[in-house]
Amino acid sequence: MEMLIGGKKCPAAGGEVLNAINPATGEVIGTFPSAGKEDVERCLTLARQGAERWGAMSMDARTAVLENVPRVFEAHRDELCALLCAEMGKPIRQCGEDLDVTVEIFKNLCEEARHLAGSSFMDLSAAGCMGDVQFTRYEPLGVVACIAPFNFPFDTLTQKVAAALVMGNSVVIKPPTDVTLSLIRYTELLIEAGVPGDVAQIVTGHGADVGDMVVRSEKVDAISFTGSTEVGIEICRNSALYLHRMIMELGGNDPFVIFGDADLDHAVQECWMRLRNCGQTCCASKRYIVHNSVKNAFAEKLVQWLTGFKTGDPADPATDVGTLINERAAKEVEEQIAHTVRQGAKLLCGGERKGAFLTPAVLVDVTPDMDVAKDMEIFGPVFPIIGFDTEEEALALANQTSYGLNAGCMSGDMIRALRVASKLQAGTVVLNGCSTWRGPEIPFGGYKMSGLGREGGRYSLLTMSQEKTVAIRYVR
Ligand code: NAP
Repeated sequence: MEMLIGGKKCPAAGGEVLNAINPATGEVIGTFPSAGKEDVERCLTLARQGAERWGAMSMDARTAVLENVPRVFEAHRDELCALLCAEMGKPIRQCGEDLDVTVEIFKNLCEEARHLAGSSFMDLSAAGCMGDVQFTRYEPLGVVACIAPFNFPFDTLTQKVAAALVMGNSVVIKPPTDVTLSLIRYTELLIEAGVPGDVAQIVTGHGADVGDMVVRSEKVDAISFTGSTEVGIEICRNSALYLHRMIMELGGNDPFVIFGDADLDHAVQECWMRLRNCGQTCCASKRYIVHNSVKNAFAEKLVQWLTGFKTGDPADPATDVGTLINERAAKEVEEQIAHTVRQGAKLLCGGERKGAFLTPAVLVDVTPDMDVAKDMEIFGPVFPIIGFDTEEEALALANQTSYGLNAGCMSGDMIRALRVASKLQAGTVVLNGCSTWRGPEIPFGGYKMSGLGREGGRYSLLTMSQEKTVAIRYVR
């Protein structure tokens, strides 16, 4: 496949290509360009022109185009799911979820934008403002660089792209290397739906090369990034010279606090969210903080429950757990399990790796001082279980991380759960369930090192625009 610059399919000016590999089979399923400076410059210059025209259109005219997008995506559903499954190793049954969210975001944001009005003030009594009328309006930012992670590529990218386009910006997409083909098709379909070719473009290649060229450019007005905290910090540092608007959705090591009076069977069912997408979900619960009175029972039930899932060929509709994104990622998770065992934990089941496949693992005897109990994010199907005795201890464990994305808590005592929710350092706290939750309208984002800013519904629209104040003086 080729990049899309100015609405035209094109190779890299230097002719370099990279391979797309199916992680389940190791087979090369396609190639894509590795863009160079010339390609990035051309793309950003066109993006500026696109932003000027698109941003000057009325909101109605823009949403009339964007309302076509859901229909076009739905029409290509089977093709997109098959490509995503082959490129990522995500079980085919789960690939549709990513598209469903994409369609929903486009629909919601087009609707939400119709209700986005500025504020107006008259006769504020502040000295010098009597008799003045003031109102605000939302204006586009310009060119938005949208950099997405591999795990839910359509969903995470759409959180950025749909909001940026609705608010009159042009977008330059930098896809994750491992899921490039799916996102090239995504961009082609945006153009097929009617988005101008200089308003939605995609440049491909490694993040450290092409991504870095994009974020360092003065032709970019905003950077919306979802990915690891490590790369997020690097991007902030590398782009600081131009003070771009930054939106950062970063990593997490979400706690799931389970009290002794919780419904354990329900708690175990909630663990599905750690298996989904082979454990590669930003807000999946990654630390199981379980009251000592039920810790062993929870672990036993969990091990038993895990025997009911099928790991294997992602293209088989019966498969529950596919591969990790690539063999390197599976080796990293294998090493993180081994590291935790070296620190004194016990591996109760799983953790066997074959290529990019890794069986779900349960780790017990995890203590608060171990890396996994603090800042070591495991992006795979691993359940580290840590015991506690008191509510204060549970909170200290949950908060002893520099991350703060989501958190979950289950207790038979809802007043206690609410008290715990008020003390958990997380952008979203889920009660009566695990941490995995992201409703389309809610503000989603991290406390501490899990991010900057919020995405979701109205919050995305505000993030992707700037508010201008107009003052009319001496009205009376
Ligand atoms: P990643 O390695 O940080 O990569 C994210 C994106 O950044 C990719 O497109 C990558 O391109 C690009 N990139 C890498 N280095 C860059 C640089 N120097 N300049 C510009 N772009 C660069 O993350 P990932 O492995 O794809 O995703 C997993 C991480 O994302 C986890 O930590 C997870 O928790 C987090 N995540 C957070 C959220 C959230 O909403 N908070 C959602 C999903 C995932 P290449 O692929 O070419 O390297």
